[in-house]
Amino acid sequence: MAYTIGNAIIYTGDEIIEDGYISFDDRVISTGKMDDLKSKVNYDAHGMLLMPAWVNAHTHIYSALARGMNIYFNPKTFTQILDQLWWKLDRNLGQAEIEASAYAAAADLIHSGVSTIFDHHSSQNFIKGSLAILKKVIVDTAGMRGIFCHETSDRDGTQIESIEENIDFYKLNRSGTVAGMMGLHASFTLSDTTLREVSKVCDGKIPIHIHVAEGIEDEVYSINDYGLRVIERLDKHGLTIPNSIYAHCIHVDESEAEMIGKSKGFIANATQSNMNNAVGIADIGMLSKRAKVVIGDDGFGFSPPFDLRITPLGQKIAKNSPTAFSTSDLKSLIDNTFELASNHLNLKFGKIKTEYVADLMVIDYRSPTPVSKENFWDHIFFGIGSPVRSLFINGKPVMIDGEIKTFDEDEVKKESRRIARILWNKVK
Ligand SMILES: [Zn+2]
Repeated sequence: MAYTIGNAIIYTGDEIIEDGYISFDDRVISTGKMDDLKSKVNYDAHGMLLMPAWVNAHTHIYSALARGMNIYFNPKTFTQILDQLWWKLDRNLGQAEIEASAYAAAADLIHSGVSTIFDHHSSQNFIKGSLAILKKVIVDTAGMRGIFCHETSDRDGTQIESIEENIDFYKLNRSGTVAGMMGLHASFTLSDTTLREVSKVCDGKIPIHIHVAEGIEDEVYSINDYGLRVIERLDKHGLTIPNSIYAHCIHVDESEAEMIGKSKGFIANATQSNMNNAVGIADIGMLSKRAKVVIGDDGFGFSPPFDLRITPLGQKIAKNSPTAFSTSDLKSLIDNTFELASNHLNLKFGKIKTEYVADLMVIDYRSPTPVSKENFWDHIFFGIGSPVRSLFINGKPVMIDGEIKTFDEDEVKKESRRIARILWNKVK
């Protein structure tokens, strides 16, 4: 039975339909002007904006309970940020903490209009079965789509267990709503022995999801210890696999970006997180000429609209030029992010057209100026911040008029606050 949203300004990915309607089941069936609609309307958008829901190309659900945690924190380098905060946190995550993190993140993501996430998980003392917990909450309960992996790293000696978790999950979960990848922390915490093992199991087919040159030390260690830059090292091990995600790439050089592009990999940018960690700002212009750049949030807030504004601002300030990054550059990044989701889930994302997935959001954006296909991304960039009122994923209503329909948000937040208190007492 088709569901119809009417009286919306629809951005289809290619054009604007004013006074539009859309009918869908799990896919888009038809769109057009209200005057041409024959069936009844199930949801009246009252002139609000309807567009494809967001995809988040790099996030960390496991960071959700860190918000407001007070521990000793005085890092001088990026590695010290990991050591003083994230590695302490992830060693203390068990089943209850992972589940609470997933619900807390899901609530924020849904309110921000996100349908699909590429999550990079880490719980170094609870590895086996950790990805199934994320899937149960994010996909089975919240009704979102997720591509999950566990962070393989030599730092705690758990690398083999992580590789197994990634492979087991990848083999079991390959549908239009869930998939797996091979999660790797970063070159500087992975030995050659581990990379050889990863290479063997990935066999050039299972894409990797890894942090690359987020801090300058990743490149420095790689060059000093292996005589290779980070991407060269991964390539030597046969790990530049199509549809892999290389998060950050702030300090890669042109030849590394070239290698990522040639291998059909994607570079995930997360400017907001990079600013927070003071690790630098990736040169998106340089990277984009050579590879496809996508947008993630690195677990900083689960709110793509913030990243959509900060990404261009970061480029402008880094280049000292108000024309360093245009809103059409922003559109390219978003289109790439939809393409990444399409490649992993074997469905069409990012447009409101027949056969595309019915992942749609209704934003309470009532423009003070005309909206056209030419200026649509100016509206997104300058006018962003309007609340997402309703979200449909896979054709199903996940949030209607600000209320999440797939779980009880108040209950979930109450529980996550309880679990966070316990967790904070454990993280020293
Ligand atoms: Zn990250």
